[in-house]
Amino acid sequence: MVVVMKPEATAAEIAAVINKAEAVGVNTHPIYGKEHTVIALVGDLTKIERDVFTAMAGVQKTVRIQEPYKLAARNTHPGKTTIDVGGVTIGGPEVVVMAGPCSVESRQQVLETAWAVKEAGATILRGGAFKPRTSPYSFQGMGEAGLKLLAEAREQTGLPVITEVMTVETVQMVCEYADILQIGARNMQNYGLLHAVGKVQKPVMLKRGISGEIKELLMCAEYILSNGNMQVMLCERGIRTYETATRNTFDLNAVPVLQRLSHLPVVADPSHGTGDWELVGPMSRAALAAGADALIIEVHPDPDKAASDGAQSLKPEKFAELMGQLRLIAAAVGRSIATHPAAVNNGRVKEAILA
Ligand code: PEP
Ligand code: MN
Repeated sequence: MVVVMKPEATAAEIAAVINKAEAVGVNTHPIYGKEHTVIALVGDLTKIERDVFTAMAGVQKTVRIQEPYKLAARNTHPGKTTIDVGGVTIGGPEVVVMAGPCSVESRQQVLETAWAVKEAGATILRGGAFKPRTSPYSFQGMGEAGLKLLAEAREQTGLPVITEVMTVETVQMVCEYADILQIGARNMQNYGLLHAVGKVQKPVMLKRGISGEIKELLMCAEYILSNGNMQVMLCERGIRTYETATRNTFDLNAVPVLQRLSHLPVVADPSHGTGDWELVGPMSRAALAAGADALIIEVHPDPDKAASDGAQSLKPEKFAELMGQLRLIAAAVGRSIATHPAAVNNGRVKEAILA
């Protein structure tokens, strides 16, 4: 059940609702929205009548949530969740583009790519330092050295950084360098990791598992939310089906379905969704048109030599071309592409940095 407080509800009225629920052993999760405070009640509610809350001072209404995911459910939250990352807002009217290499490979590669995606208009830099690879003999990522290069790229370009965290033990370390923690598809149901990222105050992008149902993705988001971290975004990155023509089947239905079921921002990843750079443009355009709040796209200066996912990586010039098309599509659906906030521009000069 969710208790929606009146916009003018006082702190004491909110506390009274929380105390009433906790007195019967029900867990409370207050969400302090811009207009309303909403208190999600999770646990055995049979010991208390719903009317008890409805009658309390400052309460506007109570809503029963049928879905097994409570905190992720659309009606838990007034409006959509917005997540601010270094002045870039994800989940608002503007569509955010995150771009960068699959793996961080070298200083030159990450800086060159960071500048290229920034110049094309991306507002968040992606790059993997810990790589979940199918084979243990494939490149596993640069680890902390890679995180340091991402932090250097952020310092130089001003772009906030998203990077994957694969283990509970490295959550603190990745938090020191990253602005958004990525939970990869293979770790969607790594519950220990979900608990751990739920306990930190960093935005998390949770990717849909390779054979994850939408409901399962939402339940995994619930693990993070129920630990207190409300800054969660959901990412559609393609699922495994009987189709073998593409690496994965990019489930575009998931974008509007997730928007309907949840208040959390929805990110689309057409790079992993297709596995083929020639399909990244069409599916990026489609995902934007379908209502994604953000796109995450792999870009590499020399995809043929990429340590991972070269086949699905765009060259910087192709990415810049795509950004131009995305601006047109955004306008056609009444949105726009997020531009760099002042904190990102801040007098930074590429020539000085790459010298
Ligand atoms: C990635 O973003 O490079 C990645 C490994 O993604 P996924 O977990 O979706 O396969
Ligand atoms: Mn990749």
